[in-house]
Amino acid sequence: MTGIVVLGSTNMDLVAFVAQAPKRGETVTGREFRTIPGGKGANQAVAAARAGGEVAMIGAVGSDAFGPQLRHTLESCGVDTDLLRTTEGPSGTAHIVVDDEGGNAIVVIPGANGTVTSLAHGEEALIATADTLLLQLELPLRAVLDGAEAARRHGVRTVLTPSPAQPLPAELLAATDLLVPNEHEAATITGIADPRSAAQELLRQVPEVVITLGSAGCLHAARGTEPITVPAPSVTAVDTTAAGDTFVGALAVALGEKKPVPQCLAWACTAAALSVQHPGASSSMPYRSEIDAAS
Ligand code: AMP
Repeated sequence: MTGIVVLGSTNMDLVAFVAQAPKRGETVTGREFRTIPGGKGANQAVAAARAGGEVAMIGAVGSDAFGPQLRHTLESCGVDTDLLRTTEGPSGTAHIVVDDEGGNAIVVIPGANGTVTSLAHGEEALIATADTLLLQLELPLRAVLDGAEAARRHGVRTVLTPSPAQPLPAELLAATDLLVPNEHEAATITGIADPRSAAQELLRQVPEVVITLGSAGCLHAARGTEPITVPAPSVTAVDTTAAGDTFVGALAVALGEKKPVPQCLAWACTAAALSVQHPGASSSMPYRSEIDAAS
């Protein structure tokens, strides 16, 4: 029995740190280069595993040198990668230029992620054994939809992070149990800037919504209940990369343990607040003992 299955992306982030990003046709000398394993799917898998979940990952890495590194990152956090495919060709990569003011420019090349266009038989069987399926939008939409519908058939809870932000097909929302957008994504999907109003609009299509609100915490809304907001712990944020993924991973673990919803939300906020106090994506994600100690 696997508690949490993640159907999503793995990317190697190739990050160049430079005083000022080059203009078109210009070459500049940068200060530092880092390769950082990421991808929203893999980030959520790592977050959930560190938060104490039993986690398996479905998706694909490439046959290049990044493939084994991405797989190893997941395995070293205890994520089951038995069904993570290796496909001929490059892994997903994100080419990121970060300037001295903290601004960035990013090119994402889906690579192996783009080859996951449908579910294989064994992958559906794995989803069928789970409590929760975590989905994002960095794989081809067809595969995300297949995953959500497979989960629905097998009575598995689906949690969708609608990132990168885009309007969502009605069939996907119809197969989603819990939608977790940030403020920007909620506004993109609904066309409504106010999170409370956006949440009410989303409840017409999904039964439960959590909108993350950065340093203001999160807003929970479900059909037939009063919306609640849960504040984020007050911390000094140094890097909010993957805060949302940390939040979702921890939330999935807590919900799977059937804790009361406000307690699950507070625990997820605590996990995300711990992650923003350290640089990096998966490297900044807290372990269960740290989340419990800070709760
Ligand atoms: P976001 O994707 O920016 O909405 O952030 C996701 C979650 O991370 C939020 O719901 C918070 O729980 C947490 N978070 C983000 N930024 C901060 C911050 N500056 N301080 C504390 N928690 C934060």
